[in-house]
Amino acid sequence: MLALRELRKSYPGFSLELSLTLPKGQTLALLGPSGSGKSTVLRLIAGLEYPDSGSIRMEGRELLALPPEKRRVGMLFQDFALFPHLSVYENIAFGLREASWPKERLEQRVRALLEQTHLTPQAHKLPHLLSGGERQRVALARAMAPNPDLLLLDEPLGALDRRLREALVLELRELLSGDGPTAIVVTHDQQEAFLLADQVAVMREGRLAQLGSPETLYHHPADPWVARFLGHRN
Ligand code: ATP
Ligand code: MG
Repeated sequence: MLALRELRKSYPGFSLELSLTLPKGQTLALLGPSGSGKSTVLRLIAGLEYPDSGSIRMEGRELLALPPEKRRVGMLFQDFALFPHLSVYENIAFGLREASWPKERLEQRVRALLEQTHLTPQAHKLPHLLSGGERQRVALARAMAPNPDLLLLDEPLGALDRRLREALVLELRELLSGDGPTAIVVTHDQQEAFLLADQVAVMREGRLAQLGSPETLYHHPADPWVARFLGHRN
């Protein structure tokens, strides 16, 4: 289980305050207007920012006591950047080489991910030769490579056109379902959130406006603001 308790972070003109729990293996979709604090939440969990106060526990471990590289958290950034001079294979292998995975295990892991993300034929290409959807899948495979306890995806399908998003969201659902990792997916797309998530959180100005199952949010929005926010998407 992931547990955020009274997590606080202030910037000039913005303050975040958040508590929530997410059972192991579940996927949480984070929705909310631009500037509501979605990426900040992910950066705090990943250790790219440090909160003013609060706690972040994952299976009982206090993540705030650990440096980012020890948190076993994989993150795909909003402006995800692949290493342009490295092949698809080497992009996916990068974190595993950093973590000194033994050669055979590393090769097995990368091959399995290439298969899972349908990238095997592209393994030796450089990123600039790939389509947008392929690049997005490489970024996803790279984030998943070290088998993180928790996967944080910030607009994983953000840069893609509608048709490609619709195809990829089903692949993503496959990767996250079953015995997949605990995951938080930030998205602007309500339909996508409802397809992927066991739970949906709507953020407003650094606070949780509502947290619940997709059905609950759809049928019983907590207040008129949430109803309007959801109603105005798509
Ligand atoms: P978007 O949907 O546009 O990506 P978001 O919900 O991810 O928005 P955040 O990136 O979390 O929003 O930003 C929340 C607020 O915090 C914004 O007003 C932003 O300007 C501010 N902010 C974020 N990081 C910093 C920082 N390092 N210094 C100052 N302000 C920051
Ligand atoms: Mg963001």
